[in-house]
Amino acid sequence: MRKNIIAGNWKMNTTLPEGLALAKGLEEALKGKTPKCDVIIGVPATHLASIATAIDSSRIGIAAQNCADKEKGAFTGETSAAMIASTGAKYVILGHSERRQYYHETAQTLKTKVNLAISNGLTPIFCIGEVLEERESGRHFAVVDEQVKESLFELSAEDFSKLVIAYEPVWAIGTGKTATADEAQEIHAHIRKTIAGKYGQEIAENCTILYGGSMNAENAKSLVAKPDVDGGLIGGASLSVEKFLPIIESF
Ligand code: PEP
Repeated sequence: MRKNIIAGNWKMNTTLPEGLALAKGLEEALKGKTPKCDVIIGVPATHLASIATAIDSSRIGIAAQNCADKEKGAFTGETSAAMIASTGAKYVILGHSERRQYYHETAQTLKTKVNLAISNGLTPIFCIGEVLEERESGRHFAVVDEQVKESLFELSAEDFSKLVIAYEPVWAIGTGKTATADEAQEIHAHIRKTIAGKYGQEIAENCTILYGGSMNAENAKSLVAKPDVDGGLIGGASLSVEKFLPIIESF
């Protein structure tokens, strides 16, 4: 059975004291509750070790937001998958549209990062999604297929089974526009079918596919009610416990 997940992506927000307070506040708010999904927070690299020490990471998983495409060595300023894993983080968000757009991450670079993440025991949360013009011209299905095929389809079935996919239409990220639940279901089912075509029905059925893009307390329920939407990757609304908790409770 595939997992339901609600994951936050804090992006480049919060100082370390602010991040610690947010993580501890979320842990406090979840006390005595048994969410029907796994909860993850994607925190800045500088916060990983401190947050992993401060909270019970068996209740709230910790994700990095990127990792290097090199194993180690003379790559000033980079953070390797092994370094991330050594902090206690279990996940890494890869291929976010902001990294593709502003840091020119290519399918090939992302393929290398996915491989390094998996070989270091991290679960990649691999983001895909089309820009507005691609949706408007009806190319969104082809775009996501290409993103998945180019970066992931050389993985063994065993390794592919370890990752999580996040479908995030770029036009919905941080814009307040959300795909309707029907639009999300349609493309999630399509992505699952593409996976089934490569790895078979069982692996496709077990793959967690999250929706991301202006998900909030109001729209989360209808999105996660869809059979192929297994949760969400949440940016803005993950920066406040009051906004994030109702999304976790939308299952
Ligand atoms: C994201 O950054 O992955 C995201 C979905 O952001 P937001 O929820 O703010 O649209």
